[in-house]
Amino acid sequence: MITKAAVLHEMHLQRPYNKSNPLKIEEVELDSPGFNEVVVKVKAAGICHSDLSVINGNRPRPLPMVLGHEAAGIVIELGKGVKELKVGDHVVFAFLPSCGDCDYCQTGRAALCKPGAEANRKGTLLGGYQRISKDAKPYYHHLGVSGFAEHSVASVDSLVKIENDIPFEIAALFGCAVMTGVGAVVNTGQLKFGDSILVVGLGGVGLSAIIGAKAAGATKIIGADLNPEKRKAAKLLGAHHVIDSSKKGSHEELMNITKGGVDVSVEFAGAISALDFAFKATKRGGTTVTAALPSPDARMLLSPVELVGQEKSLKGSYLGSCIPSRDIPAYIELYKSGRLPVEKLITHRLSLNEINQGFERLASGDAIRQVILFD
Ligand SMILES: [Zn+2]
Ligand SMILES: [Zn+2]
Repeated sequence: MITKAAVLHEMHLQRPYNKSNPLKIEEVELDSPGFNEVVVKVKAAGICHSDLSVINGNRPRPLPMVLGHEAAGIVIELGKGVKELKVGDHVVFAFLPSCGDCDYCQTGRAALCKPGAEANRKGTLLGGYQRISKDAKPYYHHLGVSGFAEHSVASVDSLVKIENDIPFEIAALFGCAVMTGVGAVVNTGQLKFGDSILVVGLGGVGLSAIIGAKAAGATKIIGADLNPEKRKAAKLLGAHHVIDSSKKGSHEELMNITKGGVDVSVEFAGAISALDFAFKATKRGGTTVTAALPSPDARMLLSPVELVGQEKSLKGSYLGSCIPSRDIPAYIELYKSGRLPVEKLITHRLSLNEINQGFERLASGDAIRQVILFD
């Protein structure tokens, strides 16, 4: 079938993106779904920082690629062997497929699925196929999703079935922002009821972490960002204190508020100074989590003595250390009961044609979550 998609042909284009237009809206050809694959009519797709990292070259990917990795839609066609889904099912895309068979999937660590990571690195679906092309030239899939398109062919292992009563613009957020942010707090950081937490970097993922920390019963929630608007948003979503971590004396300010540091700190900013701030803010015996993707060349200076003498932990978090098929439905239940008010993250709704404007807005820090809506 022919469908409309936002395609990246070249990384490193200069801002403003609404002038350089890194994403081209094109008619592309979608193959019929193969074994264990389905066609999804995409209804909503969120604009996330990890797409921006591909556009600006921080996260290099094979090109041309249809971007978008946070989306929700309706299954409209089934390939052979599909048992889990039927036509008409509503689904959220997970940006890492879970093969279900590798060592990691078998031991509850789907966020480390090996064939899933391999397919994502190569820009293919889990089965190794590219189902998108133009003039017989194959295009690459972004993280098995390629949600900036009216339709997407996806592996069933990239999809999680949801109830039909969730608005698509909300459902999409669970595929990346909410899963990554909430998961980093409760799965990777293992935040306990009554703990204190610092969240550094208050974009869509960081603010999801604030919402998650509140739902999980953190007593002291501190948000840090350079942008005053983002700090304001964190306060509205449940942060008890907010800090400009670039300001002189901000570390001392945090130590005063927390009386010696936080139990858990999570960092999403993607800057070494931010991770350093989060690590130093973590109290003795506490855990620092980073889920950011800085430039691949970035390096951090770390004191092993601080790790040892203070029994600190520093952990990476991918996919919020989630099992998508377990955690997405659970987080959606929390949303329904009002404990994860993720609808407050949406600041803009746009059409596919406005996507470059959306990326410029994200790069300039003027948006939290922008969602592209399809008919
Ligand atoms: Zn994302
Ligand atoms: Zn696996």
